[in-house]
Amino acid sequence: MDDDTLEGYMKAGQALARTREKVKQWVKPGVKFTDIVKLVEDDFIASGVLPSFPTNVDVNEVAAHYTPTIGEETTIPEDSVVKIDLGTHYNGLIADSAVTVSLSDKYDDLVYAAEEALEEALKVVAPGVPITEVGKRVERVLKNYNYQAVSNLTGHSIEYFELHGDVSIPNVQVNWDLGKFEEGKVYAIEPFVTFEGRPSKVVDWKPGGIYIVNKLRNVKDPKAKSLFDEINRRFRTLPFAERWLQDFMPSDELHLNMEKLVKLKALYEYPALIEVGGRPVSQAEHTFVVTRDGALVTTQRVCSCSLSQRVSIWPKPTQVLLCRG
Ligand code: MN
Ligand code: MN
Repeated sequence: MDDDTLEGYMKAGQALARTREKVKQWVKPGVKFTDIVKLVEDDFIASGVLPSFPTNVDVNEVAAHYTPTIGEETTIPEDSVVKIDLGTHYNGLIADSAVTVSLSDKYDDLVYAAEEALEEALKVVAPGVPITEVGKRVERVLKNYNYQAVSNLTGHSIEYFELHGDVSIPNVQVNWDLGKFEEGKVYAIEPFVTFEGRPSKVVDWKPGGIYIVNKLRNVKDPKAKSLFDEINRRFRTLPFAERWLQDFMPSDELHLNMEKLVKLKALYEYPALIEVGGRPVSQAEHTFVVTRDGALVTTQRVCSCSLSQRVSIWPKPTQVLLCRG
């Protein structure tokens, strides 16, 4: 990875980390999902980066992939556990990270467990280390808490303008080869944690309001075509939300044409994912670059010196970036 690319990844990651710290204050009972995602996404833009996917607000047993629709009035419930999964990009260089806010004592440990599992997993990362080491580390930490990982939610590699690359990083032990961490590549590790009992997995829930271009189809309807062209121009291969197109078309017309494009399979709408046993779920996530010294976590705030000072120590950074100045 060259210096400019690393600098872009750091810009995306550090902006995300600043916003993620504020999110903890924004998530409170009674606050609308709609207001939280607006605060997050406006904050990104104020930092000079763009969202790389719609901000997820996933409450309790909803594990992933829910974002509010236009005008949605849903609010954060009392005594809940709330996962905010947020992403930025700087010219296609992506950061992806999540924080869980516990609004009840009974979920505090669930949050700590996910954070500790992530921290332990990041320690094992180095070039040549098997991807499957992550699941071993995560399981070891969670066992101490008497918790378990959700088996079919995984971390992933990240590529240019591509949130989910070809590599999957399970949070449970598996007996097959998934390859090795490679120097200069970018990944996200993200344990999802729930209570013990029958093995945990997620299943599809209702549509979650997150879309992606599925196929470059020849759309005939002129309104739907202009919308599809605009979507390709703005979001390319990244996931997006209907609310990001409100400036392009009035909401009712927009919704109608989005539905047309989904029907044509030009767009795909992700289902939100729910824990099969209805158990509450926590999540922690960081994005990192693999260096010869280990994981360089782009989404962790490291120092307040200028970006040029930080990246100038490449390629020798370890988990903690040192300031030259
Ligand atoms: Mn994420
Ligand atoms: Mn991710």
